[in-house]
Amino acid sequence: MIVEQIWTGNAYRNFNYLIVCPESGEALAIDPLAHELCLATAKARGWTVTQVLNTHEHHDHTGGNAAMVAATGARVLAHANARNAIPGLDRGLAAGDLIKVGRTVELEVLDTPGHTMSHVCLRSHTDIPALFCGDTLFNAGAGNCHHGGHPAELYATFANQLARLPDNTLVYPGHDYIANNLGFTLDREPDNARAAVLLADVKTQDPAAALVSTMALEKEINTFFRLHSPSVIRRLREAFPDLPEQPDPRTVFLKLRELRNNW
Ligand SMILES: [Zn+2]
Ligand SMILES: [Zn+2]
Repeated sequence: MIVEQIWTGNAYRNFNYLIVCPESGEALAIDPLAHELCLATAKARGWTVTQVLNTHEHHDHTGGNAAMVAATGARVLAHANARNAIPGLDRGLAAGDLIKVGRTVELEVLDTPGHTMSHVCLRSHTDIPALFCGDTLFNAGAGNCHHGGHPAELYATFANQLARLPDNTLVYPGHDYIANNLGFTLDREPDNARAAVLLADVKTQDPAAALVSTMALEKEINTFFRLHSPSVIRRLREAFPDLPEQPDPRTVFLKLRELRNNW
């Protein structure tokens, strides 16, 4: 499996992706808003885009669909419940569905509500697994729930699905927000040395050659996986004095999500 991460350079800081079968050159384009860039990359490498996958229905993820389909005839795939929100949907997806790309690539659909209620992530069946997580999980952060989502569902997705992925899973999010998110991590957990070192590194990084994190790294630097950290809980109590002595992880997650909304 070849993964091409495409930095759009737009104001939303989107990443688009091409997932390619190295034997056949067939490609699946994830959220190809920058359709011209995706098509130019495919052409230069001799790849053929046969499928478009939207992680969810927001325009900064679906806005390139029509042009991609017009140029390639690709089939459009997204969560089955996004049928009314995404024109031209060819294949509605549900948890456990398998998406094949060419002869060698197999991707498993995860149903991951929270950012919106019809959001999918893809997990590759490869020796080193990869997760394409749209706006559910960001490097050092979590998606917001302002436009059709629910924080409690997002917590359930994090706790029951994402946190259980193998530590070596590569994380490919829908936006480059890492520097800002690490700032939030350090605001919530000032003694997180790993986050401080990483922030110094990524502040000057070229998003076109971005760090690819792993679930192991996310568990160290992403506040939304650090729900048992004593210093996270101690800091949270400063903002929410009524917080119990041993708050449950769901409560911690929801309070963190609330604080992040105004940070
Ligand atoms: Zn979104
Ligand atoms: Zn987005």
